[in-house]
Amino acid sequence: MKVPERISELRKQLEYHNRKYYDEDSPEISDYEYDNMLRELEMLESEHPQWIVPESPTQHVGGTVKHGFGSKISHDVPMLSLEDKFTREELIDFVYKIKRELDEPRFVVEPKIDGLSVALRYQGGQFALGITRGDGINFGEDVTSNLRMIKSIPLKLAEEIPYLEVRGEVYMDNEVFEAVNARQEEEGRKLFANPRNCAAGTLRQLNPQVVAERKLSIIIFNLQAVQGKEFESHAQTLDYLSEQGFKVSKYAVCKTEEEIWNAICAIDDNRGSFSYALDGAVVKVDSLAHRLKLGTTSKVPRWAIAYKYPPEEKQTQVLDIEINVGRTGRLTPLAILNPVRLAGTTVSRASLHNQDQIDRLDIRIGDTVIIRKAAEIIPQIMSVVKEKRPVGTTPFQIPDRCPVCGSSAVRETVDENEGAAIRCTNSNCPAQLARLIVHFASRQAMDIEGLGPAVVETLLSKGYLKDLSDIYYLQSRRDDLIRDAITGRPNAKKSDTSKSTDKLLAAIEGSKDNDIDRLINGLGISNVGKFTGNLLKNSFPDMFSIANASFEELIGLDGFGEISSKAVEDYFAQPQTKYILERLQKAGVNMQSKNVNRSISGIFRGATFVLTGTLPSMTRDEAAELIEKHGGRVSGSVSKKTTYLLAGEEAGSKLTKAQGLGIKIISEDDLVRMLQ
Ligand SMILES: [Zn+2]
Repeated sequence: MKVPERISELRKQLEYHNRKYYDEDSPEISDYEYDNMLRELEMLESEHPQWIVPESPTQHVGGTVKHGFGSKISHDVPMLSLEDKFTREELIDFVYKIKRELDEPRFVVEPKIDGLSVALRYQGGQFALGITRGDGINFGEDVTSNLRMIKSIPLKLAEEIPYLEVRGEVYMDNEVFEAVNARQEEEGRKLFANPRNCAAGTLRQLNPQVVAERKLSIIIFNLQAVQGKEFESHAQTLDYLSEQGFKVSKYAVCKTEEEIWNAICAIDDNRGSFSYALDGAVVKVDSLAHRLKLGTTSKVPRWAIAYKYPPEEKQTQVLDIEINVGRTGRLTPLAILNPVRLAGTTVSRASLHNQDQIDRLDIRIGDTVIIRKAAEIIPQIMSVVKEKRPVGTTPFQIPDRCPVCGSSAVRETVDENEGAAIRCTNSNCPAQLARLIVHFASRQAMDIEGLGPAVVETLLSKGYLKDLSDIYYLQSRRDDLIRDAITGRPNAKKSDTSKSTDKLLAAIEGSKDNDIDRLINGLGISNVGKFTGNLLKNSFPDMFSIANASFEELIGLDGFGEISSKAVEDYFAQPQTKYILERLQKAGVNMQSKNVNRSISGIFRGATFVLTGTLPSMTRDEAAELIEKHGGRVSGSVSKKTTYLLAGEEAGSKLTKAQGLGIKIISEDDLVRMLQ
């Protein structure tokens, strides 16, 4: 049985037994059998995450509580935001206003976490539903299955209270955030701007396992609704929630504006000691009766405000500007700073991004600069203190030679966000090579276990690797590798060293048989990743026909833009590429596309077909297979790039659209005739 079929069978069975167990109370199988099926499904889904669907039994708790992930849920209690205050005067105004309306009000001051707000509903003490803020007033989004993976959310409360809704802030620890971003970078993916962003992205993606891996946490800051319990004050509710197993806000109860201000300042002073980002303090009226009396405006409650801290800023000196060379050869300037404490960590470097940024701020070596942490994490240079500029400095220019290999570096325009990039033109540049080889061996590319950054570094420094293809010639140097303890555990026994060396060599050997989409991704062509690799694999029979493809042929492929077409063409035009491909092939690395539909003729090469309606003698799948076998591509939607619309009976909107675009319409007969 094929994997997708097994997955769908398991899902059907699990749903059936869920119903038996939860809705009909008449289980037919033991928990053990059920768990085994669930585990098998989880395993298959984790190996093939592309097939995870929100409806899968792995994504929700069985039976009645069925959650449509991402579906709209109406707010019983609005999730309002707070009015922001920025100065001491504004804060004191707020306190005076409250004091005019209420008798001896008490206030509570709490840290304000920079995360995202969710509401959690409990029925009979069981966690039942978790929703995002959404529009705050009417609807939020169901994210229950992901919230269940957050350890600090109790699935069962200490007390079986009939109903409870709480509100909290989901956040990610700074440390976890940095690790997630480091991994994103390693895998060549987009970096998250800050922990809040990363937490939000994590909560809204489909795989709950990712939530567990990224260790999201939550702190509860408000009781939204309750049945079967009475409270008088906010402080009381927080204490109760803490007893129920929630992690709750630390709070200070205050009476005077002086006490409130001191509590706010105390949190600010300790900002650096929190493991997560804070963006302010919240001041709330403590008495629940008082809150009711004050009420809300259409947008914000009248009984609470957020005091926003200004981002912490420090002055320090730029000791040097270094140039980093990335995997794609991009030269990135990095300011080396006189180390300074800022928002909890010691900052000693800050990226200057590109020449445009350097020019805009006019940053020079020796300058005193003002730094700040964007979202409390990434240090940023805000401005130069020009009065402190030493005499004799000169404007800084990113060199036109790569600092690592000395090859020429050229300026090329990329998208607006990144600004102009300057790249080393030598694809053999050692700085690029280390990162390139790690990428080549990574899981999404050739998947060579054991060829990580440390081993690659050693192999490069001892001269075993001069380019990618050398990986496949390591086998013949087995004895040297063992002698040099390349797999590098210090003080390892010699027998262990030869064992781990053989393991690495076996992993390298095993990767030779990979399909070419992995190889294409591994080559590290700029703007070409997994997706593009797959597209190329499906469109060409082998590496050499990809290497020979013209720009026009490439851009004719669906999903291929000008930038990637140009990048592929340029990459394969380099003599170095030809050399590497030949050596890889000589070493026995697979160069053939394993696409089962690989063409038996090239009659349709370069042509894109869209299928619609009922064909007289073939199913649409059969027709698609036939087209692909002859080198054509089948796309789901009509566009200007469509070559033919293959239309059968009852063709609908696709036919109309194709006619409108002047695309050639053909019948099944025409198709067969074209093949003769
Ligand atoms: Zn270089």
